[in-house]
Amino acid sequence: MEILSQLVIIVALLAAGFYWLVVTNEAFLQAICEGISGSYHRGDGIGRRMYFFRGKFAGRNLRVEYRFRPFTRNRRQDELEIQIPVIQKFWMRLVTRSIPLPAEEESFAEQEVPAGPFLAHSNQPQAAREFLETPEILEQLAKLGPVTRLEIYRGTLKALYQKASDQLYRATFQEALEAIVRMIDAYERQLSFKLNAVPATESCPYCRGRLNPQTETIVECTQCITRVHKACLNENRHCTTWGCGSSTAQPC
Ligand SMILES: [Zn+2]
Ligand SMILES: [Zn+2]
Repeated sequence: MEILSQLVIIVALLAAGFYWLVVTNEAFLQAICEGISGSYHRGDGIGRRMYFFRGKFAGRNLRVEYRFRPFTRNRRQDELEIQIPVIQKFWMRLVTRSIPLPAEEESFAEQEVPAGPFLAHSNQPQAAREFLETPEILEQLAKLGPVTRLEIYRGTLKALYQKASDQLYRATFQEALEAIVRMIDAYERQLSFKLNAVPATESCPYCRGRLNPQTETIVECTQCITRVHKACLNENRHCTTWGCGSSTAQPC
């Protein structure tokens, strides 16, 4: 009987310890999001716990995911991702170090970005270069803090921060968020740029999946003849080409 009650106490202590670790991690997200209107939720992560914030920032929908492992807190294997929906005008990924590209992405050769330690990949390298070299954007890139990867893909901008709780504080986080929103504003405005032709590829500029007329409906933009999945165009509601203002397409 005594052994049983000791066991119960041990289990209760372990559960309390685990709960404490989870709550401590969750408090980090609440601390850096302080002052932004929205709500907190627990979600499922793969091999990690996930806690996220959903709200509005500068008039835009914002989701901030914080993924962590409570039992390995000392090793700081946590990461934070900012997610904001955008109207996609080209696919772009910024990374801080060279990454091996899968076969279907080999044509999106990496190029250096004048500001910071970034390398860029894009389906429209010329447009991406012009965009990233604008003084306004260079200024914002410098405010992103310790971001590991920033991507505009499938109508969402995602900015990933690894070892977030070691490196991000409320001020750095919210300054980065402001910089990201300014970048998105400029990206969606895109009017000061001329129409950039998209190199003809076999993959969709929105989802980067193969364009296979046998299995999916493919359409082409009525202005710039960019080919895209019909479903992807419906999702983005605008042509995915930088400088093209069209939102209509025809079967091809
Ligand atoms: Zn697609
Ligand atoms: Zn177009």
